[in-house]
Amino acid sequence: MSNGSTSVNLYDLSRAELGARLAAWGYSDYYAGLVWAGLYRDLAAGPEAIPGLRPELRARLAAETVLSALPVRAAIDSADGHTRKYLLGLSDGAAIETVLMYFRGQPANASGRAMTIPGRAATVPGRATACISTQVGCAMGCVFCATGQMGFGRHLTPGEIVAQVVHIERVLRARGEALRNIVLMGMGEPLHNYDATMAALETVMDHRGLAIAPRFITLSTVGVVPGIRRLTAERRPVRLAVSLHSATDAERSRLVPPARRWPLAELMAACRDYTVALDRRIFFEWTLIDGQNDSLSDAHALGRLLAGMNAHVNLIPLNPTLGYDGQPTTGPAARAFQAVLAEHGLPSTVRQRRGIDVAAGCGQLATAPSTS
Ligand code: SAH
Ligand code: SF4
Repeated sequence: MSNGSTSVNLYDLSRAELGARLAAWGYSDYYAGLVWAGLYRDLAAGPEAIPGLRPELRARLAAETVLSALPVRAAIDSADGHTRKYLLGLSDGAAIETVLMYFRGQPANASGRAMTIPGRAATVPGRATACISTQVGCAMGCVFCATGQMGFGRHLTPGEIVAQVVHIERVLRARGEALRNIVLMGMGEPLHNYDATMAALETVMDHRGLAIAPRFITLSTVGVVPGIRRLTAERRPVRLAVSLHSATDAERSRLVPPARRWPLAELMAACRDYTVALDRRIFFEWTLIDGQNDSLSDAHALGRLLAGMNAHVNLIPLNPTLGYDGQPTTGPAARAFQAVLAEHGLPSTVRQRRGIDVAAGCGQLATAPSTS
């Protein structure tokens, strides 16, 4: 990075912006196509590795742009070998987490997400999932979340979000595999960093490059209502997951502080409008905390809240964190909760959080003393 801090990061540019920049330098769109394919099909580490460029274009790219890969500061595997968690460094010294989940037996569920259905092993190989961060830390302050306990650092740029996907794609390519699923469930609240997140998704979905299909991308939000409304108005093609954790405002506000700003009535109205306007299902996430939100009456309340809605519930047993003393719900209690949801006609899945043995839940590598 000898180019100084004002050089544009190529990963920040949309395909159209890249075309405009090269056009200003006197190159036709054909060359922008070559560069784009070099970045996102060949995963080139720099302009010198992009095939077919004229030497003067290569030299100008090298002089006036950077390609900011994110160096691996730490990598940690779960004991079951299914999860590899990376701590990736940013140019200002901050770090974020990006997780690669391999599922030899990942079910071909509707969301294509990182989930397992107890007792049902699927057999399709190579359906890897990348869990991507959108911010350094998070401003939302959910009490059980390691990222929330860190507080807000800053928004990621589009290029920093894209570079995480490029990193995972490189790792997979070295194993002869390709990335299929992306979940925006790493550090941060994607709808609090709306523009950068959408710009990054445009790049990773672009069929001339990484070409991740929108139906295999899931954006998870804590319930930022204006963001959900904007996703709906803009008809964004990715799947939506909404973190609920409670079906009453009083209890939800204790777990998820933004619930005070966007109460359930407003949140559910935005969710219903989304499902109707886009004719799509929403995945509702519910972190199961022993004795807090896992009673049968909690399940009934959730069933009533989502009545008549095109919804699927993902139940996530709490992954314990240093800053919160709650415990996960046990397997039998989770199944009893599911049975009540089924009575209400609500489909649900218990999602096993993988890699708990390496303290590799959301935000937990970045806050672990041994890696800081
Ligand atoms: N900010 C977004 C996306 C990142 S968090 C959101 O909140 O939806 C992704 C999911 O992990 C959320 O559903 C969140 O509630 C859940 N989560 C965070 N910390 C957790 C923990 N310690 N145990 C279980 N689930 C957790
Ligand atoms: Fe932020 Fe999501 Fe963690 Fe809440 S759960 S603090 S919104 S990352």
